[in-house]
Amino acid sequence: MSDVAPRGRRFARAGARGSLESVIVTPPRIDLHTHSRASDGTDSPRGVLEAAAGAGLDVVALTDHDTTAGWAEAADAVAPTGVALVRGAEISTRVTTEGGSISVHLLSYLHDPEDAVLRAECDRTRDDRLTRARRMTERLAEDFPLTWEDVVAQTGDDATVGRPHLADALVAAGVVASRDEAFATMLHPGARYYVPHYAPDTDAAVRAVLGAGGVPVMAHPGAGARGRTVSEETIAALAAAGLAGLEVDHRDHDAATRDRLRGLAGELGLLVTGSSDYHGTGKLNRIGERVTAPEVLVQIEERGLLDVIRP
Ligand SMILES: [Zn+2]
Ligand SMILES: [Zn+2]
Repeated sequence: MSDVAPRGRRFARAGARGSLESVIVTPPRIDLHTHSRASDGTDSPRGVLEAAAGAGLDVVALTDHDTTAGWAEAADAVAPTGVALVRGAEISTRVTTEGGSISVHLLSYLHDPEDAVLRAECDRTRDDRLTRARRMTERLAEDFPLTWEDVVAQTGDDATVGRPHLADALVAAGVVASRDEAFATMLHPGARYYVPHYAPDTDAAVRAVLGAGGVPVMAHPGAGARGRTVSEETIAALAAAGLAGLEVDHRDHDAATRDRLRGLAGELGLLVTGSSDYHGTGKLNRIGERVTAPEVLVQIEERGLLDVIRP
């Protein structure tokens, strides 16, 4: 057993007593993709760790969109909740193809939050999201009872204003029944209310994450319901640029997609992760509904600049 290996709490305590034969070994349960109110989740960062504890998780990653604003509060919640924290972010990026641009979400783990290049990209994305949200609100307001104040009212203090908040405002106004309905209709990239926002090229973002000492993992690469997905050739090119892993186990992937992505990860030597993409009550995803193998977290921690914060 390696010293850096994350261990289940029961296992660690029992191991210290040295009576291994009477111990039921429970591998640690690890969820590497969650959102708090620092972006578009509905829990505070501390609330995410409390939810993780409630779900019996040992390790959780906080991966808010294009921000590390929730890290400090989440770190303070490690000791009281007993849940280890992987500091991360989900970076908005774009792959440009002949058929148009494809949105790609890139998870970054354990990077330097002060890195100038990565910070500048995230700041620019967040600023442009705000401009974009205002433009989409203007378009929606032509047809529906919606104001910018309604959208702001749905947004947390440190949050990146985004489509989820527009969706919540549309729900509050009685225009749609749920966030999901809003995303499937008027907020969909194909809808006439949709406005694209700035995002760096995925290739540049992979390099920026690596430059910041982070570990880049492509989030939900096969989630076709969100829009077009990237080709296997593109994933291979990103792997050559330093992409470390694929989030294979995610509720937006069916069994065939998971098999295909697992095979591709094997061919390209990429890590395989599984996660919930929890957003509190903002989405149906339950925290801990998909998990990542302990040996994969060992690899991520070895490659990342920062350590996992353990209780
Ligand atoms: Zn995502
Ligand atoms: Zn996410």
